[in-house]
Amino acid sequence: MFVAQTKSSKRQTAKAQMLTSFNPRTGQVMREIPATPVAEVAEAVATARKVQPEWASIPPRGRAHMLREVRHRIYDKLDDIVETVSSEVGKPRAEALISDALPTVLQLLYLERTAAKTLRDERPAPLAAPFLGMVSRVRWQPFGVVGAITPWNYPFFLSMMAVAPALFAGNTVVLKPSEVTPAVGECLREVFDPLPPGVLTVVQGAGDVGAALVDAPCDKIAFIGSPATGRRIAEAAARHLTPVVMELGGKDAAIVCRDADVDLASSGVLWGAFVNAGQTCAAVERIFVHEDVADEFTSSLLEKLERLRFAQSGDGDVGALTFKRQFDIVERHYKDAIEKGARVLGGGPDRGPQNENGSLWFAPTVMDGISDDMDMSREETFGPLVPIVRVRDEEEAIRRTNEEAFNLTATVWTRNTKKGEALAARLRCGAVGINEIGAAASGVPFAPWGGIGESGYGRLSGRQGLMEFVYPEHVTKKVTPGLKSLWWYPYDEATQATLRGATELLSAPGVKRKVDAARSIAANIGSALRGKF
Ligand code: ADP
Repeated sequence: MFVAQTKSSKRQTAKAQMLTSFNPRTGQVMREIPATPVAEVAEAVATARKVQPEWASIPPRGRAHMLREVRHRIYDKLDDIVETVSSEVGKPRAEALISDALPTVLQLLYLERTAAKTLRDERPAPLAAPFLGMVSRVRWQPFGVVGAITPWNYPFFLSMMAVAPALFAGNTVVLKPSEVTPAVGECLREVFDPLPPGVLTVVQGAGDVGAALVDAPCDKIAFIGSPATGRRIAEAAARHLTPVVMELGGKDAAIVCRDADVDLASSGVLWGAFVNAGQTCAAVERIFVHEDVADEFTSSLLEKLERLRFAQSGDGDVGALTFKRQFDIVERHYKDAIEKGARVLGGGPDRGPQNENGSLWFAPTVMDGISDDMDMSREETFGPLVPIVRVRDEEEAIRRTNEEAFNLTATVWTRNTKKGEALAARLRCGAVGINEIGAAASGVPFAPWGGIGESGYGRLSGRQGLMEFVYPEHVTKKVTPGLKSLWWYPYDEATQATLRGATELLSAPGVKRKVDAARSIAANIGSALRGKF
């Protein structure tokens, strides 16, 4: 069954589109949720634009105070949020807590505590500016209306990652959550209820609703999703010159060094590859292991793989894939790899719960014998398939990691953390974990989150994540009222001599020439300023 595609509903008016909320653990359709008609998206943006100046006029501390109510609403609705995320994404309840509810609360709390300070005016060059007869201040201005377009894998947290800093910064937001997880979209709508109308509006729907949001147009777009959609959005946004911040996933590598703590590395990599059934933008999709520890690492990983419990009822360790299109990609990658000579070392589709009534289970699978011509080597799998690749040394691992332009994170496993730091510095990615999974960094509220190359640009989360939603407005103020500026008309001889003197003073080598230049300035500046009209 195709989940959450828009389709006409007989229960609604002829034109209404319905989104399906589907439980991939059971195959059960849970409910149908009306999509926002495409024609209403521009209206939502217009309303957001109308209320934005008022929202921005509330000082940052006041906004933080109001947004605290959102955090408290999450407390009130926690059971509902966990159950909805867990059943609609197909993930264990523990993961709905680890990677949706808890990091969201951390993100909000961090912004409540720090946003006002981060958004304080800056005074660049406070000593130098008065020499020019003016003082400078940088004021951080919100863009206006932010359009946030978010995915289905961590539908609660990743929506919040895009929305929360934008709101704290004084923007209003129109959020389009993924059509694959519309019930989580409704949860988000409810937790933002304490905010004044129009400050955060949820529009539900598929790509057409997202495209209408980009085209409304908004003043800034925050997008988290696939590279293909990211490209489309960047192109559409470019037509309006709308700036975009985007996080697009990756084909992230784990590098297991010869001196790795193998028990630690196998536990970490197991989680990094299979959390959320591998449907994680920063999932470990390639394991480069030093050949000297490859056997020990592999048997440790496989032994732990066998101990994973399937979360059919929501309790347990591993969930189902979220929707049919994603299941089909994983199955295609698996079949293609097997046909081309890959070997299954552990797991595989014949393990774990078998699919009935439309459920979408695919057991975590470890493979080897992977070659470059396989789909899983060339594309993001976004599922529970991970290959082990033996390497001669760490140099080969670094080279092969960096050959891929699609690294959101990377991880290095070594007992020598100094060496880990040195290797990390050579990796081209947005976050590096040393003896920790890079994806875990997404939950750290004070750290920037985002990629490089095909993994996207700009940052969400942390100080940089907040600054992504403001632009600097430079305010200059004359401190010599009544005195006209040297660079105003007319450009008489005295003005030219003063300007020349200043340029020479700042560029001359040696003291004597600087003194000559200073003398020329002193001789001409008075007459230059008196001559201004
Ligand atoms: P995936 O391929 O993993 O499902 P997508 O990148 O297609 O993820 O989707 C991420 C988000 O982007 C979703 O909310 C989706 O509805 C939205 N989206 C898809 N196509 C477009 C588009 N052309 N313009 C704007 N948003 C889109």
